[in-house]
Amino acid sequence: MVNDVIFGFGCMRLPQTDENDPTSVDQETFNKMVDYYMENGFNYFDTSYAYHNGYSEIAIKKAVVDRYPRESYQIADKMPTWLLTKEEDNEKFVNEMLERLGIDYFDKFFIHNINAAWLPKAENANSFEYIKNMKKEGIAREIGFSFHDDSKLLKQFLEEYGDIFDFAQLELNYLDWEDPIIEARKCYELCGQYGLDVYVMEPLKGGVIINTTDEIKDDFKKFNPNESIASFALRFCASLDNVKVVLSGMSNMENTIENCDTFKNFKKLNDDEFEFLAIEAEKLRLSVAIPCSGCNYCVEHCPEEIPIPDFFNIYNTKKQQEDSDIYTAYYHKLANEKVPASNCTYCQTCIDYCTQKINIPDELKNVDEIFKEGFNPYSR
Ligand code: SF4
Ligand code: SF4
Repeated sequence: MVNDVIFGFGCMRLPQTDENDPTSVDQETFNKMVDYYMENGFNYFDTSYAYHNGYSEIAIKKAVVDRYPRESYQIADKMPTWLLTKEEDNEKFVNEMLERLGIDYFDKFFIHNINAAWLPKAENANSFEYIKNMKKEGIAREIGFSFHDDSKLLKQFLEEYGDIFDFAQLELNYLDWEDPIIEARKCYELCGQYGLDVYVMEPLKGGVIINTTDEIKDDFKKFNPNESIASFALRFCASLDNVKVVLSGMSNMENTIENCDTFKNFKKLNDDEFEFLAIEAEKLRLSVAIPCSGCNYCVEHCPEEIPIPDFFNIYNTKKQQEDSDIYTAYYHKLANEKVPASNCTYCQTCIDYCTQKINIPDELKNVDEIFKEGFNPYSR
């Protein structure tokens, strides 16, 4: 910890040797990123049972656990709430996670992704009692939950279970701060009222904040030519009084160096900077057609294996760029190599998994309609 806020290494988007295979973590590059991050005074690794289909935990074992003394780092891991079917599942998953990581306790342990669809699964499996006991027995030093739903559900949840937790992990960034669906500000304030520290995930909203329009990029350059948009976004989160951890899901050495630099030289945002980000958030909101964070949860559960976030990303980029024919070609390339958006059967399986509450089948239909008439270099 270099300042009061811990800068955490989010391990859900690690470098891969094959971009189509989430299990193909590029261990050599990841090891170098870990070494740089640790050398610069940081030591917090956030993972889950699900990231990289379990290979995030395995990669952390190789890069961190096997190469550094146990007391020199912290590991945060998460129970796969959506897979819980009975009480015994808690122990089964926890043992599997400890084994993949090669450790005998977690520094932090979460119930992963509380939302309206999955809260009953955790309740039916008695998971809250289970993780309370994990803390009592020292298997988890501190416990919390990550949350993806609105402030109404969060309030109900905190009334029922708030006293057992040490912290809450929220999606929080300057774009979602006043968003009527994510309600980041309201959720942040509620955690404060219930005495919980806030840990931040998605400070860049999976890249949506930085992959933006030329106009927004120019605004940032004019405002401060020496600071990146990513740095502003991280500083926004770390400047909030009740925030104790800010995660960044780093995928390459460049991100790692830049983010370490932001936190090593951390300065709280001043009033002018807060005001500037509020204006840019509004512009960004208007420019993003589909607010997908690229978390990939939907893809893992789509029976048709549709590359949903990739289609949404192409669609968003097309909407943001004036010269956008190239994105029609990208769309057809992706549909040709993988599965077209039109293969969606409206089974609705993905909807419960979407952290951004996007109506995925409806949006896929829109995407398909927009692109199907355009230039298709793969048609004959
Ligand atoms: S509704 Fe469409 S995108 Fe969603 S899981 Fe079903 S087939 Fe896949
Ligand atoms: S559509 Fe939803 S679940 Fe799928 S990647 Fe985007 S935000 Fe995540």
